[in-house]
Amino acid sequence: MTFLFAGCLLYISGCKPQSLVSTKEEVNIGRQVAHEVESHYKVDTDPQINALVNQIGQTLVKHCDRQNIKYTFKVLDISDVNAFSLPGGWVYVNKGLIDATRGREDELAGVIAHEIGHVVARHAAAAMGRGLEADILVGTLTRGQTQQFAGLFADLSLLHYSREQEYEADKLGIKEMWLSRDEDPMRYDAQGLVDFFGGLLAMEGNPPSQTERMFRTHPVTSQRIKFAQAYLDDIRAGKSSP
Ligand SMILES: [Zn+2]
Repeated sequence: MTFLFAGCLLYISGCKPQSLVSTKEEVNIGRQVAHEVESHYKVDTDPQINALVNQIGQTLVKHCDRQNIKYTFKVLDISDVNAFSLPGGWVYVNKGLIDATRGREDELAGVIAHEIGHVVARHAAAAMGRGLEADILVGTLTRGQTQQFAGLFADLSLLHYSREQEYEADKLGIKEMWLSRDEDPMRYDAQGLVDFFGGLLAMEGNPPSQTERMFRTHPVTSQRIKFAQAYLDDIRAGKSSP
């Protein structure tokens, strides 16, 4: 009831709920979730593969629209083809996804760029905001609640974004990659993002046991691929600014 009442107040005053979660709060929760993730899942012990993902990530974040946080990139020792980001700047890539890219670094960079896009657009923070708004408004956010949200985000199967948010993260990812192209020697071809999703779509013909686990937080459709390709083509043609 309190939640509904607060929601009405917000609506009348015209505030956007997602603005209620401060960057500080977002980073604090993200840090706790990262701690939980790493206590439930093993971080891959191969220093080379972690270094590669970190190098790609740190190169890309130099070109992203959110510079007020620190970004952390790690590889999890999980065979599912998946990657995810947490509020506040933590990005995790599963070993299974890296294996699936078979050395095609532009595709791996595409996935990482997309995840950075979710952080830049504060999609997870917005989801937190919807749930936390009432308690933040009345200043009663408890430690227990913070842990509850940490648990929610740590359960990867619950982390779902809307189609619009996925499109937005794709665009932001393409933009980061496009802007990285002038950086020598680190440069990534934004086509890699589209190609990776194309590869996932092609796998849809495989038995469900294999495909249902593929990038499950990121449903890939042919429309989504067309949309990303069109945006990239427009940038290339100078019709759209990155
Ligand atoms: Zn996504």
